[in-house]
Amino acid sequence: QKQVYAFHEGNAEMKALLGGKGANLAEMAKVGLPVPPGFTVTTDACRMFFQQDQQLSDGVYRQITEAMTELEKAAGQRFGNADHPLLVSVRSGSVTSMPGMMDTILNLGLNDETVEGLAESTGNPRFAYDCYRRLMQMFGSVVLGIEAHHFEKLLRRLKEEEGVEQDQDVSAEGWQKLLSLYESCYAKHAGRSFPQNVHEQLRMAVEAVFRSWHNPRAQFYRKINHIPDEQGTAVNVQSMVFGNKGGDCGTGVVFTRNPSTGEHGLFGEYLINAQGEDVVAGVRTPLPIQTLQAELPAIYEQLVEAATRLEHHYRDMQDIEFTVESGKLYMLQTRSGKRNAQAALKIAVDLVNENVIPREQALLRIEAGHLDQLLHRGLDETAVTDIIATGLPASPGAAVGQIVFDADTAEQWAREGKSAILVRPETTPEDIHGVLAAEGVLTSRGGMTSHAAVVARGMGKPCVCGCETVRISVEEKRMTAGERTLEEGDWITLDGATGRVIPGVIPLREAEMTTELLQMLKWADDIRTLKVAANADTPQDARTARMLGAEGIGLCRTEHMFLSPTRLPIVREMILAEDTAARLQALEKLLPMQRQDFEDIFRAMDGLPVTIRLLDPPLHEFLPNIGELQMKHLEMTVHQEGTEKERAALKKLLAKVGALHEANPMLGQRGCRLGIVFPEIYEMQIEAIFQAALKCTEEGVVVHPEIMIPLVGHESELKLLRARVDEVAERVLGEERQNHHSYKVGTMIEVPRAALTARKIAAYADFFSFGTNDLTQMTLGYSRDDAEGKFLTSYIDQKLLPHNPFQVLDTEGVGQLIEMAVLNGKMAKPSLRTSICGEHGGDKSSIQFCQRVGLDYVSCSPYRIPLARIAAAQAAI
Ligand code: ADP
Ligand code: MG
Ligand code: MG
Repeated sequence: QKQVYAFHEGNAEMKALLGGKGANLAEMAKVGLPVPPGFTVTTDACRMFFQQDQQLSDGVYRQITEAMTELEKAAGQRFGNADHPLLVSVRSGSVTSMPGMMDTILNLGLNDETVEGLAESTGNPRFAYDCYRRLMQMFGSVVLGIEAHHFEKLLRRLKEEEGVEQDQDVSAEGWQKLLSLYESCYAKHAGRSFPQNVHEQLRMAVEAVFRSWHNPRAQFYRKINHIPDEQGTAVNVQSMVFGNKGGDCGTGVVFTRNPSTGEHGLFGEYLINAQGEDVVAGVRTPLPIQTLQAELPAIYEQLVEAATRLEHHYRDMQDIEFTVESGKLYMLQTRSGKRNAQAALKIAVDLVNENVIPREQALLRIEAGHLDQLLHRGLDETAVTDIIATGLPASPGAAVGQIVFDADTAEQWAREGKSAILVRPETTPEDIHGVLAAEGVLTSRGGMTSHAAVVARGMGKPCVCGCETVRISVEEKRMTAGERTLEEGDWITLDGATGRVIPGVIPLREAEMTTELLQMLKWADDIRTLKVAANADTPQDARTARMLGAEGIGLCRTEHMFLSPTRLPIVREMILAEDTAARLQALEKLLPMQRQDFEDIFRAMDGLPVTIRLLDPPLHEFLPNIGELQMKHLEMTVHQEGTEKERAALKKLLAKVGALHEANPMLGQRGCRLGIVFPEIYEMQIEAIFQAALKCTEEGVVVHPEIMIPLVGHESELKLLRARVDEVAERVLGEERQNHHSYKVGTMIEVPRAALTARKIAAYADFFSFGTNDLTQMTLGYSRDDAEGKFLTSYIDQKLLPHNPFQVLDTEGVGQLIEMAVLNGKMAKPSLRTSICGEHGGDKSSIQFCQRVGLDYVSCSPYRIPLARIAAAQAAI
C-alpha cells in the first residue's frame, strides 16, 4: 500500500492522508510556485507506527528509501555524498494545524564528512558548520531527548568567548569548536554519539516526528481544541534551501492580511541570513516585511505576487513561510492564517465584497469564540503578566474590581459606586443580588453549568468558576492561590473568556458592534429560517436582547423577580403563611410588584411576543438554609440567648422550613406541582400578567403575552392549569379578552414523560418549549448541580461522553425525545409552535440540531443572540 507521496503526487484535498502541511506543499508545487522538492509519509503510516510498537515497518521504510532516490535525482545531489550532499528537513504536519506543537529537524544528511563537502562546494565553511551545529542541536533534543538548554548554554558561552552577540557573527572556527562540545554533550546526556550514518539519521528522525504526536504539548493542544488523538501526523521530507548562506539570503513569515485587524496587505517579518525557526524563536529581532521591499525589491515583488495568488487560490487569508537562498525565493508552507475575532470578521466581509467568496461561505467561517470576543469587553493583553489561577471560562468578558466575599457587601459597594468582584466558594440563588451588583464573579467550585455560570451568562456578566486552586475563606475574608493571598478590597481582574484570574487592575478594551459584525448579522438574518428569541428576566435584559436582535422573549423566568432584598421577606411571609388567608395577604403585596415587572418588560418588547414562565423552583430555595437555622437554634437553646418569644419564633420557622425540606428538591414540589398545590401563587402571577397587558395596551403598546407552565409531565396537569389561565383571563380582561388580547398558553417539555406523551399534551398547548437543562438532567439521570464536580469531568476526560451534555445537546438521547415530541405534537396540532430555551439554545451544534428537527425558534441569553443568529444561518446553509 502506498504510504509515501512525492509532492507532485498530492494536492490540497488530501489533508487527511498527507496532513495540512504536506497537502498544501503539494498544492503549491502543483500551481507552479517554487517549492523545494520532497515527499510526504502519510498519517496512515503514523497510525501503523503506533500499532507496531513505535517501529517503522519495512514496507514504509522501503518506500521512503525509494522516494529519497527520486529526490536525489530532482535535486541533483546525493544523500550522504561527500562532494554534493543532499540535505533535507524532516517536518511534522498534522491534519488540523497545531502550530509549533510538534517537531521538525533541519539540515539532515550532514556528518563529519558531508559537512566538509558542503563547505567546499559552497565555498562557505562558516555556513556549513552553522548548519551542522543546528542539526546536532535539533536532532539531539527532538530525537534523543537531550534538553535544549544544555546546547543553549554551550552556545552562549561560545559567543561570550568570541565576544559576539549574534549567531551569525560566530566564526567558522567557533562553530567547529561548538560541534565537538556538542559531541560531548551527546555522550553525557544521551550516552551515545551523533549518528554519522545519514540513513540512520533519517530513520530516527521520521520515527521521532511520529512520536512527537504524543508529546505532552501536542496532547494538551488537542484536548483543548477537540482534535481527535487518532488523527496522527504526517512527516514531510523536503530538500533544504538555505536562508543562512549570506546577505542575499533570509527567511520569514507573512500573512496576506493583518491577523489582528484584518487590514488588507502583506503583514509579517523576516531575517536576513538566518534559517528556519530563527524568526519565531526570537534569537534576533526580525524586521517588518515592508523593509524587504527596500532591501531585496525583486524578491519582495515575487513574494507579494505569490501571496496574492495563494490567497485567491485558497480563498482565504494565508500564513506563509518563505526562504530566500542566494537571491531566489522559495515557498515552504502555507495555511489558513489564525486570526483574532475582529480580523476574522473583517476578512470574511472583505472577501465577500472583493467577490472572492459568497456570503454563505463568509458566514460559515465565523466561529462562536469570535463573537464571544467581540461582544464582550476584553483585556489589554499587553498588561497581563501575572496570572495567579485559571478556572473555567464560564461567562465571557473581562471585569476589574475590588474583592468582596458576600453578596450583601457587593450590593452595598455597588451602591457606593465601587466596582466589586464577588468571590464565593460557590453561589446559590440567594447570592443573585450580589451577582447583579458585581462587575464579575469568581467561584472555586462548580462547573460551566453551575448556578453562578448560568446566572452570570444570563446577565452577560464575566464569570470564572470552578477555580479549584483558589482557596476561599468567607469568614476570614481572604482568598489564597498558591503563595498569594488577597483580602477583601484588593483589586483583581477576571477574564471570563479564558478563565484567567489576575491580581491588580488590567486595562480593558470596550466591546463593539463593528460595521463588519452588523453586515454579517444582516446576511445571517437573510438566510436563516429559525427565529431567535431571548431568555430575559428583567426589562434591562429585554432591552439588551432587543438591541442584539431578539425577535421576542422565549423564556422570562419569574423566580429571579422574587429574590430581590425588598421582596424576599414578603415571599418568605407568603411561603410561611399558616393558612390560605395569610398567604393571600402576602400575595396581595407581591401582585403590584409583579405587575410592574411585566409592564416594563412588555414595554421593552413592544410588538414582540413575551413568554413568561410561572414560578418554577422548589419553595425552600427562597427560605433560609436549614442547617444554619438548626445551628442557630441550638446555640440559642444551649446559651439561653434571646427572649422566650424569639426562641419560639425560631423554632416555628425551623419546623416550617423542615417541613418544606426535600431529599430530592429538583424532583420535588416545584413547577406546575407547586402551582397545583398552592393555586393562589400562580393565580397572582397570571393576574399580574393580564393586568400588565391591559395597562400596556391602553398605552398603545402591542403586547403578545404567552404563559408557560413548567415541569408538566401529564396532560392532566396542563389541562387543569390552562383552564385556570383562561378563568383569570376572563376575570381580568373581561370583554377585552376577545378584542385585543390574543394570549397563548403553552408548556415546557422538560420531563421525559411529557416528551413521550406529546400528542396528548399538545391538545392543551399552543406551544412547546424544550427546557433542555432539566430534560437532560432527567433523561440522563445526572444531577445538573453535582454531576460536573463529581463524575462528569472524569467521564469526559475518559472519553465516555463526547461533550458535557449540559453544554452540547445529547442529540442521540435527549435529542430523540425532542424529535419525537415535535413530530407527535405537530401531528396532533399542526399550529403548535416549538422552541428550545435551555442553555443549549446558544450553542452552535445544538442549534444545528434544532434546525434539523424543525423547531420554530431558539431562545438563549441576550449576549448569545448574535451567535445564535449566525449559527441559525449556518444551520440553514
Ligand atoms: P512548524 O510546523 O513548527 O512550523 P516547520 O516544519 O514548518 O515547523 O519547520 C520549521 C522551520 O523550518 C520553518 O521556518 C520552515 O520554514 C523551516 N524549514 C522547514 N523545511 C525547510 C527546508 N526544506 N528548507 C529550509 N527551511 C525549512
Ligand atoms: Mg511551519
Ligand atoms: Mg426547568
